Amino acid sequence: MNNILYLVVPCYNEEECLVDSSVVLKEKLNQLINEKLIDEKSRILFVNDGSKDKTWEVIDKLHSEDKIFQGLCLSRNKGHQNACLAGLDYAKDYADMLITIDADLQDDPNTIKNMVQKYLDGNEVVYGVRSKRKKDSFFKRFTAESYYKLLQKMGVDIIYNHADYRLMSKRVVTELLKFPEVNLFLRGMVPQIGFKSDIVTYERLERTKGESKYPLKKMLALAWNGITSFSVKPLKLITSFGIFLTIVSILCFITFTILFLTKVLNYEFGSYIIMTIGLATGILLIAMGVLGEYVGKTLQEVKARPRYFISKVLNDEDK
Ligand code: UDP
Ligand code: MG
Repeated sequence: MNNILYLVVPCYNEEECLVDSSVVLKEKLNQLINEKLIDEKSRILFVNDGSKDKTWEVIDKLHSEDKIFQGLCLSRNKGHQNACLAGLDYAKDYADMLITIDADLQDDPNTIKNMVQKYLDGNEVVYGVRSKRKKDSFFKRFTAESYYKLLQKMGVDIIYNHADYRLMSKRVVTELLKFPEVNLFLRGMVPQIGFKSDIVTYERLERTKGESKYPLKKMLALAWNGITSFSVKPLKLITSFGIFLTIVSILCFITFTILFLTKVLNYEFGSYIIMTIGLATGILLIAMGVLGEYVGKTLQEVKARPRYFISKVLNDEDK
């Protein structure tokens, strides 16, 4: 049988929930092995994303107790997206299918079986889609759902309510690694690859232990990245806005000239000049800001720096 599954679990300061999560994940994996859905060489790979707590020590201990657990340690914190990719890149040499799943098990591990079944049905990508967001606060639900809609409006090919809980075949991961970009937005990149895909829905659970490692700042950065890495619509919107403004200005100029010439209005232009300068400066600054964002991105992509460096590996498997 050639159905080796690797669960890739990014971990940043997760010492509190790793032990519990490892028990659940191991149980799920063994269950699938017993049901002969996956190969017994299937493993759980924890990727330590430069944690400042004892996360790596916990992973090390888990590995020493049971070889089903493996560990990959990044030399510093590189963020969730890079940690996922590092794990996928490493594990693809051993696995036939790979699932990325958060360490706090908010993405229901019971869905793993459905994903595997869809893979066995011939799908190369299986997206985990959140069916309800009952456990999320109104603010989180509203902002997240509006964001998916905005992305779709911007022309980004994205699966609605899908984050980074997904199964990919070895082939898809190999293709994913051909993207040289450093500003990663995996949920935008994977649909670009194509291949037969399907979705499974699940209810997002509450974090088991610890707190979210995705503060508002990181979330906004990822959201902004999603737009600017995948859509040039903001640039086009500026151009459209510029054209609109030019036409309005010309119309105003003609109207006012006629009104002054026919003496319907007394000549009083100063205040309008000030308003126009203010408006024009504001618009120019916004335009420059957005342009700057793209220029900045181009610079980073041209540099094509390595995305991460692996410092340690725990694995006794042969390739
Ligand atoms: N994570 C990571 N690096 C980071 C931040 C988060 O690897 O810089 C991991 C984290 O350990 C977890 C997953 O990414 O496994 C999702 O993070 P979290 O649960 O804190 O995000 P939330 O569910 O609150 O959006
Ligand atoms: Mg979480």
